[in-house]
Amino acid sequence: MKDIYITKAYLPPKEEYVGMLDRIWETHLLTNMGPLHKEFEQRLKDFLGVPYCMAFANGHLSLETAIQALELKGEVITTPFTFASTTHAIVRNGLTPVFCDIKRDNYTIDPEKIEDLITEKTCAILPVHVYGQICDVERIQEIADRHGLKVIYDAAHAFGEEKKGIGAGSFGDISIFSFHATKPFNSIEGGAAVFTDYEVGVRLYQLKNFGFMGEDMVCGAGGNAKLSEFHAAMGLCNLEHYEEILAGRKRVVCRYRERLAGIKGLYLLPPQENVRENYAYFPVLFDEKEFGTGREKIYGRLKGEGIHARRYFYPLTKDFPCYKSRFQNVHTPVAEYVTDHILTLPLYDSLEDSDVDRICDIILRGNLNG
Ligand SMILES: *Cc1c(COP(=O)(O)O)cnc(C)c1O
Repeated sequence: MKDIYITKAYLPPKEEYVGMLDRIWETHLLTNMGPLHKEFEQRLKDFLGVPYCMAFANGHLSLETAIQALELKGEVITTPFTFASTTHAIVRNGLTPVFCDIKRDNYTIDPEKIEDLITEKTCAILPVHVYGQICDVERIQEIADRHGLKVIYDAAHAFGEEKKGIGAGSFGDISIFSFHATKPFNSIEGGAAVFTDYEVGVRLYQLKNFGFMGEDMVCGAGGNAKLSEFHAAMGLCNLEHYEEILAGRKRVVCRYRERLAGIKGLYLLPPQENVRENYAYFPVLFDEKEFGTGREKIYGRLKGEGIHARRYFYPLTKDFPCYKSRFQNVHTPVAEYVTDHILTLPLYDSLEDSDVDRICDIILRGNLNG
């Protein structure tokens, strides 16, 4: 039987992409914010329902540049339960991450625990809408306002989501998205920063292009984070198919829920109230005592059958060898528990129901309740 991976990148019909490439051959503009790049940003802005949207070469550089644009110094309160990129972006800006615990119910940063971590050095909060779970944005903003802190959201998992009809990128000072091949919406590599303050946009624009302000005026230690026309072309094509992609993913998630909900010892994320979800991930938390089999065994059993689930997110970023003894070791018991018990199952629009059933059969085989 064929191997099943955690995801499978979406590709549009080839003719559509080739048709888009004709426009590049006409202009010979390959990068540097060309016409497809401009069109992509415009389409994204409308789609995401945000005032400003700036495309980047990838999600990580959009986050790194967003932090740089806010000219921060000191400590950033963040979650250790995330992809490496979130913590690296803080550290690579010369800032100190302070790790805050997460909530048991949806694994996002726990606002109740943020204030205890605030010191005179704190400059920002950097939460993650992990698995597309929208953070407690109102509470976080309240805390930030009270203490004069910036808020940057890593919204890499929240593309296309809305809370009470408001685009998921509308919270905080800046939010970033990732359009990496493994994400529900891809431009091969790609990302965007979205924001409300025009001046922030000016800084971002300069910093993603070597700090250039004009033809020969350089005003900041910028990098190169420009999205090419070829990537913008893929993004434009895939955006046209987003609703189909979403429908396919929703079908898979519903099937997983049908098969795995209500089983003792398996904890699924419940649907979010008032949120238009994007079905980006399907994490399952295994309680070995209740379920009879633990995360490691299930992971190995699936692997033995050619099914590549992933231990997203394991280990916690604060436990990476490069960070472990470098930063303050805040006790984050919930994050420790979740990282040791969670497994993210394969999920993509074209995953067949029969594959989902096979995965569920393997998980449920021989457990206490099955
Ligand atoms: C994918 C991802 C990123 C980085 O995005 P790239 O486009 O791969 O650079 C950042 N944060 C989180 C939470 C991610 O999942």
